[in-house]
Amino acid sequence: MSQSPDGTAPAKPAAGRAGLRKELPEHFKAYKHVWVFIEYEHGVVHPVSFELLGEGRKLADALGVELAGVLLGGERDALIAAARTCFQYGADLAYLVANPVLTHYRNETYTAAMTRLVDTYKPEVLLLGATTLGRDLAGSVATTLLTGLTADCTALAIDGERSLAATRPTFGGSLLCTIHTLNYRPQMATIRPRVMAMPAPQAGRTGRIVEHALDMPEEDVVTKVLRFLPDRESNKAQLAYADIVVAGGLGLKSEANVGLVKALADALGGEYGGSRPLVQKGWIGGDRQIGQTGKTIRPKLYIAAGISGAIQHRVGVEGADLIVAINTDANAPIFDFAHVGIVADAVELLPALTGAFRRHLSINRIAS
Ligand SMILES: Cc1cc2nc3c(=O)[nH]c(=O)nc-3n(C[C@H](O)[C@H](O)[C@H](O)COP(=O)(O)OP(=O)(O)OC[C@H]3O[C@@H](n4cnc5c(N)ncnc54)[C@H](O)[C@@H]3O)c2cc1C
Repeated sequence: MSQSPDGTAPAKPAAGRAGLRKELPEHFKAYKHVWVFIEYEHGVVHPVSFELLGEGRKLADALGVELAGVLLGGERDALIAAARTCFQYGADLAYLVANPVLTHYRNETYTAAMTRLVDTYKPEVLLLGATTLGRDLAGSVATTLLTGLTADCTALAIDGERSLAATRPTFGGSLLCTIHTLNYRPQMATIRPRVMAMPAPQAGRTGRIVEHALDMPEEDVVTKVLRFLPDRESNKAQLAYADIVVAGGLGLKSEANVGLVKALADALGGEYGGSRPLVQKGWIGGDRQIGQTGKTIRPKLYIAAGISGAIQHRVGVEGADLIVAINTDANAPIFDFAHVGIVADAVELLPALTGAFRRHLSINRIAS
């Protein structure tokens, strides 16, 4: 046990996190700057990458460092065009690795490219979208680099000790915990689409491009892509990015009544979804579940019919601009965060709303 400076009494160990923190190993002290992995596939950048550039910008400003986007792919020109878009969303520079082995996503090639970039340029923070691709890549990159990864974060900040404070739900969503990667670098986090707001692009904003060669011949890659088959249902549920979402919960009472939610979504030109019990009952597909273990949405209008508003549902919808809740129970938790609350039977109200919207929208269409 250590002694106090005057040698009279034992010194108390430092309280809280400071007591747990070791000095950052010397070789990690050179790690600087914030990076966002830009998910670029088949000519398209996933919008979550721009959302993360918006968030990364705030972190980089708080640290007084640069924000970089990382682009991996097969065609150099296409990557350069995507890098220019990243500058408009806040990146100061873009790291580019163009190599035919990166044409299609493969964990092996992308992990190699990403870890070699990290080893060379040493970022202190690395953010990835919690998409199917991003989750797959983040896990193997963190494992290869022997660093920490906080998955599915809902908030990011820089604390007083310049450490990334990554907050995520825990204990089934009933608590939030903040996780720090104190002694390893980079500090990695994944964030689901729509959790962070989309920043406004700044036309004319430019940045630097740093190209990095990947020495990896195709013969060395174990996984082979024989053919790329686009998902025939890739346009099935675009809930995360829909402007209008109508969702139902157990208050709908029957699978047939899910049709009432679909009809209203259809009349409004929006998407439909539901709470988790509806997925568990097989009334709607898993890709339409909204909430902590489903999709996070940020629509302009969210109509929730017969949904109680449990915390696991709430975390997926509270980014909506306008939340309208229909519930027979005036004390339902959803009324605590809905902007407009209607105490009514959803099974009766939904068809009435659908009819009214259809009439109103067709009158407007004729008038224009
Ligand atoms: C680890 C974990 C993850 C979870 N993830 C999710 C998730 O991602 N998404 C999610 O939604 N849930 C999730 N849940 C489940 C969540 O805790 C709730 O159980 C669920 O959201 C409740 O669904 P509900 O509101 O449809 O049903 P209920 O809670 O049963 O609510 C039904 C509501 O309908 C109202 N009602 C009844 N009749 C009518 C009527 N005729 N008209 C109008 N209103 C009526 C009732 O007053 C009630 O408020 C998760 C739970 C756990 C433990």
